[in-house]
Amino acid sequence: MSSASASIELDRDVVVIGAGISGLMTARRLAEAGHTVAVLEARDRVGGRTWSDTIDGSFFEIGGQWVSSDQEALKALLVELGKETFERYRDGDSVYIARDGERRLFQGDFPVSASTLAEIDRLVKALDALAAEMDVAAPWAHPRAAELDAIQFGTWLASESADEEACRIVDHYIAAGMLTKRSHTFSVLQAMLMVASAETFENLIDEGILLDARVVGGMQSVSEQIADELGQDVVHLSTPVRRVAWSSDSVVAYGEGVTVRAQYAVVAVPPPLYSTIEYTPALPRPRLIAHQHQSMGLVIKAQAAYETPFWREAGLSGTGFASHEVVCEVYDNTTLHEDRGTLVGFIVSERAEEIWALEPDARRRAVLDSFAAYFGEAALEPVAFYLSDWGAEEWTRGAYASSYELGALSRWGHLQNEPVGPIHFASSDIQGAGYMHVDGGVRIGDATAKRISAELRA
Ligand SMILES: Cc1cc2nc3c(=O)[nH]c(=O)nc-3n(C[C@H](O)[C@H](O)[C@H](O)COP(=O)(O)OP(=O)(O)OC[C@H]3O[C@@H](n4cnc5c(N)ncnc54)[C@H](O)[C@@H]3O)c2cc1C
Repeated sequence: MSSASASIELDRDVVVIGAGISGLMTARRLAEAGHTVAVLEARDRVGGRTWSDTIDGSFFEIGGQWVSSDQEALKALLVELGKETFERYRDGDSVYIARDGERRLFQGDFPVSASTLAEIDRLVKALDALAAEMDVAAPWAHPRAAELDAIQFGTWLASESADEEACRIVDHYIAAGMLTKRSHTFSVLQAMLMVASAETFENLIDEGILLDARVVGGMQSVSEQIADELGQDVVHLSTPVRRVAWSSDSVVAYGEGVTVRAQYAVVAVPPPLYSTIEYTPALPRPRLIAHQHQSMGLVIKAQAAYETPFWREAGLSGTGFASHEVVCEVYDNTTLHEDRGTLVGFIVSERAEEIWALEPDARRRAVLDSFAAYFGEAALEPVAFYLSDWGAEEWTRGAYASSYELGALSRWGHLQNEPVGPIHFASSDIQGAGYMHVDGGVRIGDATAKRISAELRA
C-alpha cells in the first residue's frame, strides 16, 4: 500500500473512496471482473469501523468484531479468504440486574415474571409480523411506510403493552443494543428495518446467534487481507478525498496527494460523512436534503482484561444485562489462546456523553464499578483497559452506525442506493440485509461492483 507523499495522477475504471469493508469488497469484486481500481482512504490504515490493537499486552478489537451465525455473506467471505473463527465463551449463568438492584442469575429466558415474559414474546411477535411485511431492500415501499415512520418506537411500545419492564427490555434491544439512540428519536419503520435486516427479532437479540463467533486475528484482518491481495498500488492510505468533480460519464476524485480520473466513483464512507466531500457540480437538490437526515448513534465499547477470566470460576458466562447500569450489557470477550480474560461492555447514548464528560480516572472508575456490579470486586482491578472513542474519530463520528431520523426513512430512503451520474454509494448503513453490520458491507460491496461492472461492459 502506498502512503501519500508526492502528488500522483492515475487513470482507472473506478475510484473507491473509503477502505472499510464496503469499499474494499467493491474494489475486490471489480478487480476480479478485470476492471482497474484505485482505493483512496483517509486514515493511515484500512478497515474503517473494524480496528484492532494490542494495548497493555491485550489484543482488543476496538470496533466491529462479531460474526452472527446467520450472516451468510460474511461467512462465505471468511471461507474465501481462508480465515478461521472462534466461538464466544458462553457457558454458565448470565447476570440480570433488576431496576431495584436485585442481581439475578439465569440461563435462557430473562429472569422476569411469567407475565412480563409473555408480554416480551407478544411484542417481539408484533415486531416480527411488521418486519415480515417489509421488503428489507425497500422499507419505504411498505404500504404504511409514512404512517409507521411518524411513530416514535418508544411510543409504539408503550401503546402496545402496559408492562413497563417488557417494554424496557424490547426497547433496550433495538434502541441501546442496535441503533444506539434513544427510542424517541427513531420510528417504528426504522425499527422494522433493523429487525428485517436480520430476518427475525430472535436473530438480532439472541446473543447465541448474533454474537456467535470472532475472526482469528480480528475483524480488521479481513480488510487488511483484501487490501493486501488488491496489491501495493491499489490502496492509497492517508489520502482523504476532499473533492469529487463529475459529469454524466466521468469523475475526478481529488485525494490529498493522489488524483484519480475514472469512469465511476464509489463513495464508501458512512452517510453522515457524504457532505464532508465537495462535489462539483453539487449533488442534486433531493440528495443535498436527504443526506442531512441520517445520523450516527453513539456507544462506547469498554474492554477490561484480567489475569484470568475469574468470572468463569464462579460459574458465570460473562454475560450480563441491566438497562439502568452505566454498562448496560456485558460479555466475555476473551481472545483465543490468551490466558487473560476480557470483558466487553457497552455504554450508550446520553450515558456515553456523561462518561466522556468525566475526568479520565473517574471515567475508568465508573466503568469498572459497573463491571463490578455484575461480577464482583475482582472486576475493579484489570491489567488492561480501553474505551473505544468513535465519536471523536473524524472519519467515523459515532458508533455503531447511522440510521434515519424520525420520518426520514419513508421520505428519502428510496434515494440511498441510487447513483448520481457516475457516483455510486456503498456503506453497511444503506444496505438492507445485514444493515449496520460487516455482513451488510460485504453484501453492498458485492452488489455495487456488479452494477458498475455490468455498466462498464455495456
Ligand atoms: C464499536 C463498534 C462495534 C461494532 N460491532 C460490530 C460487530 O460486532 N459485528 C458487526 O458485524 N458489525 C459491528 N459494527 C459495525 C461494523 O463495524 C460496520 O457496519 C462496518 O464495519 C462498516 O463498514 P463500511 O465499510 O460500510 O464503513 P466504514 O468502516 O466506516 O468505512 C468507511 C471508510 O471511509 C473512510 N473515509 C471516510 N471519509 C473519507 C474521505 N473523505 N476520503 C477517504 N476515505 C474516507 C474511513 O476512514 C473508513 O475507512 C460495529 C461498529 C462499531 C463502531
